[in-house]
Amino acid sequence: MLRKTAFSRLSKVVLRNMSYKNIVHNKWNCYNMKKLILSHEGIFPVTKDADGSMLSCPPATGLNCAGTIQGEGKLAGIPSLFVRLAMCNMRCTWKLPNDKLCCCDTNYAASQTHLCVDEAVEIISNNLGRVRHVVVTGGEPLLQKDALADFVRRLKSETGVHITLETNGTIFDSNAVRNIDLFSLSPKLKNSASDALNNDWIRRVNINVIQSFIDTARNTGKDIQLKFVVAQAEEEAEIKEQFLDKLCNLDVSDVLVMPLGATNDDLQMTSRTAFAIAVKNGWRYSPRLHINLFGNETGV
Ligand code: SF4
Repeated sequence: MLRKTAFSRLSKVVLRNMSYKNIVHNKWNCYNMKKLILSHEGIFPVTKDADGSMLSCPPATGLNCAGTIQGEGKLAGIPSLFVRLAMCNMRCTWKLPNDKLCCCDTNYAASQTHLCVDEAVEIISNNLGRVRHVVVTGGEPLLQKDALADFVRRLKSETGVHITLETNGTIFDSNAVRNIDLFSLSPKLKNSASDALNNDWIRRVNINVIQSFIDTARNTGKDIQLKFVVAQAEEEAEIKEQFLDKLCNLDVSDVLVMPLGATNDDLQMTSRTAFAIAVKNGWRYSPRLHINLFGNETGV
């Protein structure tokens, strides 16, 4: 959820080519179709549009092919395409150990582009190549649960790709998650709460929703991970007392800790703390490979 967002060169091209104005007049008849609301980067990194034509800008990765790697979680290192949906019900701002603020880079509300589900599936199909994983992230994707349900159903049936859903774990919808393979929840600790909205525990944490994801994963054989962003040693107790002690049927291997930070310098400050918490508890340490490779570049 914290993968850097802002207009990348490529995103500008993709979004310009596929603006709402263009979509409703081209061959993708979107009049009666659900639409996804995309954030800055939209679908990335890609080299072709929905018609299969080459885009004029190369991907921000510097490669001449579509795709990047998943930087975080159980599937870190796996080649993937990303779909970033707009809007979030939270406003995260973290404080690093040196008091530097680390803001969520997702543009929660502005710069939204509407894309019909068929066209989104077609863009992904045209750009998959050897990539077999698609990550749907945000923002909070489940704010668009109806369009999301339609999108992942069609994406799964037409391409068979593995689909990860990245969510803050405050909204559950059984229909929307039916075709998801990995539920990647990133529940927010108090350290995300410099903003009044996140300071409200009731809004920031919904144990029943997290439990619904766990139960669905257990009942359907899907995979799940809970990723906690940490910067201070005392956050270990919060993870246990506020989350794990209240949840059932969560395997220790499904709990991940990830260092806070948006740059390699930031990660230097927090990685050892995350490492120590992970080893002590038998939890998994999650790298942030995209930051290691690209710093705070966008669209990568
Ligand atoms: S939950 Fe927080 S980090 Fe994730 S997209 Fe929303 S505001 Fe950003």
